[in-house]
Amino acid sequence: MAGTKHITIVGGGLAGLTLGIGLRQRDVPVKIYDAGNYPRHRVCGEFISGRGQATLERLKLRELLGQAGSVCAQTAAFFSETKSTVPRSLPTPAICISRFTLDAALAKRFRELGGELREGERSRIEDFGEGIVRATGRRAQAEKNGSPWFGLKIHARNVTLAADLEMHVSSRGYVGLCKINDGEVNVCGLFRKYADENGESKNRRELLRGQLGSSLRERLASAKFIENSFCAVAGISLRPQQAAARAEICIGDAITMIPPVTGNGMSMAFESAELAIEQLAAWSRNKLTWNEARQKIARDCDAMFARRLAWAKWLQHIILAPALQNPLIAFAARNGRFWRMAFERTR
Ligand SMILES: Cc1cc2nc3c(=O)[nH]c(=O)nc-3n(C[C@H](O)[C@H](O)[C@H](O)COP(=O)(O)OP(=O)(O)OC[C@H]3O[C@@H](n4cnc5c(N)ncnc54)[C@H](O)[C@@H]3O)c2cc1C
Repeated sequence: MAGTKHITIVGGGLAGLTLGIGLRQRDVPVKIYDAGNYPRHRVCGEFISGRGQATLERLKLRELLGQAGSVCAQTAAFFSETKSTVPRSLPTPAICISRFTLDAALAKRFRELGGELREGERSRIEDFGEGIVRATGRRAQAEKNGSPWFGLKIHARNVTLAADLEMHVSSRGYVGLCKINDGEVNVCGLFRKYADENGESKNRRELLRGQLGSSLRERLASAKFIENSFCAVAGISLRPQQAAARAEICIGDAITMIPPVTGNGMSMAFESAELAIEQLAAWSRNKLTWNEARQKIARDCDAMFARRLAWAKWLQHIILAPALQNPLIAFAARNGRFWRMAFERTR
């Protein structure tokens, strides 16, 4: 297209595909590289909640998710080793859909809009200079001795939940259960690694079933697990970062990863992609320099995410502190305002 510069996005996850779709809706030529192929399972709670839902509406993608079979979550309940809450209405409903379906639906829409998607191709680009956006997901952890966190996910059938979203916390971490498309339930958890632990995925997978006698174990007693949906990810860093500190244009987890317990990372991927669309379209039409676009996108992302990242850090800390879990759930059972506030402040 004459007078319109081309944009390359490295990473075809939620952030990269959403940005690609938004740019194609504005006739900007776009190429996306993704190391994987579609459809594919990802470690994710598959619970979309927060302002990203409005982004999906604005980009005309909400209907696409509905057509792909997304379900609406309206209630949530919390469980610790000895305490539980009754199911409570979520302050705002969430959208639940498997990443297997979601990523593939977005990839298809991007191609329908004329985008070039190179799947199964890991980009070797090292210099993210003009025209190249980083949407490569979470960064390798930079903590001393490695990150103690790893995530696991599997889908199951034959599970009856007390609420659309159930959160089960334990001394190792948490497991979230939520209803998704096709009558399946997503079973996804974040766990703390022990220093002397043998990291075989077979042993780790058992963590998703919960300890003997726990409410999680009981809930999954008759579950039929869908083996090929199992996936794992390690080295998760939960230290908040700022977009302005990056020399590149970054979106989604490539900026920073919000603690998964908030269920807001996908929303941040959609929102950051949306914040980048107009600036990159302006660069493509020679109305902004690359550096101006980078600064504006970073400033907008940091302004949008700073408060929720601060609350999320605090929330993650208290939810995953074993000594606080029983008192916290007992308090949440008595006081509906407490967890409504935590929910609202982290999105
Ligand atoms: C345990 C756990 C539970 C979670 N639960 C939830 C939840 O319930 N709700 C929620 O909103 N969020 C949740 N999240 C977070 C959510 O999954 C992420 O925030 C979201 O996937 C970020 O999207 P992204 O596009 O930035 O990154 P990704 O979805 O990770 O996509 C990055 C893409 O980049 C590609 N890539 C990387 N490097 C290259 C390269 N060099 N060349 C080509 N391609 C490359 C990868 O293949 C990948 O497809 C959870 C995360 C974890 C770990």
